[in-house]
Amino acid sequence: MSQRTIPSTVPAVERDAIIAIAQRLIAIPSPSGEEAAVMASVTAWCDEQGLSYEVVSRDPARPNVIVSIGDPSTGPTLAMNGHLDTVPVSDPDAWTNGPFEPVVSEDGRRLFGRGASDMKSSVGVMLYVMSLFRDVPLRGCLQAHVVSDEETSAHDGSIFVLEEIAAGRLPRPDYCLIGEKSDLKVRNAERGILGIEITFIGRASHTAAARTNGINAIAKASKAVLALEQVIDKFHPAIGKPVISVNTITGGVAHNVVPGECTITVDRRLIPGEDRDTAVAEIVATLDGIAAEDPDFRYRMTVDPHGDWIAANITDENSPLVQALKAAATVVTGTEPPYFVANAGATDGRFYRQAGIDTVGYGPGGERAHGANECVFIDDLVTQAKVYVETATRLLS
Ligand SMILES: [Zn+2]
Repeated sequence: MSQRTIPSTVPAVERDAIIAIAQRLIAIPSPSGEEAAVMASVTAWCDEQGLSYEVVSRDPARPNVIVSIGDPSTGPTLAMNGHLDTVPVSDPDAWTNGPFEPVVSEDGRRLFGRGASDMKSSVGVMLYVMSLFRDVPLRGCLQAHVVSDEETSAHDGSIFVLEEIAAGRLPRPDYCLIGEKSDLKVRNAERGILGIEITFIGRASHTAAARTNGINAIAKASKAVLALEQVIDKFHPAIGKPVISVNTITGGVAHNVVPGECTITVDRRLIPGEDRDTAVAEIVATLDGIAAEDPDFRYRMTVDPHGDWIAANITDENSPLVQALKAAATVVTGTEPPYFVANAGATDGRFYRQAGIDTVGYGPGGERAHGANECVFIDDLVTQAKVYVETATRLLS
């Protein structure tokens, strides 16, 4: 047998083994900021499995575990990235079982618990796939980047890992798989994020003068909110539509004073082909349309007030990674996987793309992420594992 016939040497994917590691991760609470215990469980599991790993952290309370097999000098490096922090449990009484009791439904199809869908089970798949490749000779390197701090800023998680890569302290992946929920669809692009703050300027006055001397800034803001809260008529085949949402409003100083100022924040999500300037120009055009009819409509605007603007990002569908993943999913499921055209939020994949690393998301389906009775579909985890094995085999053999 040739050393290169990797498919015959990778052990078969076992459903129960995936469930077991997912349950192990879900059972350890790890809200953002408190990831140390669950990461210790990951390193203990790697020790049990005989897998090599490195722990890297900016904040020792928020470690990241880099699990590696193979030698980056012999071929490409494929990383699988997933986070183990979760959102907190805000409504423990709404759960049928406890959020940290990883219960499988009676029909065996769902696994429940905080982080089951977002995204501990998927990290379990990644670790399991690492264990399957442990004794397989690779051309290149297979890694799992198990990170903290995704639900908050990623500053201590994927951003730190990428800083270590840029500094040469970790090998630079050629390709990255993101395991966030994608309903087993291919996610090669993500929306950009642009925050905009708009302050409407009225004229404060006594309530009695509201129709004479006052100009009510809340009323002006209301016109803008209704005009901005619209479906944006654009579409990208890999991702779908852009989104705009007015997410905060502040105004007024007292119940008996006509408000002189009112401020809203707008969250604009961009698709490939849009840029920051065009998105701002559209908002300005909407507001100026109102001002053309209302001489008292005045505003000032701050673009990207928090400095966290990020462009829409896409990995070309001709990338070897996208091609390998699509071919792998086609072989495993019998049908070509569609692109993930959905109203989905951002993932850490955007930071890998920003670093110039071809990145694609492929993960399971689930229900009620961030809510009570969060669950993941176990059949999807099995498919994800098989697709990851096949993708790694195609890229690293
Ligand atoms: Zn997530």
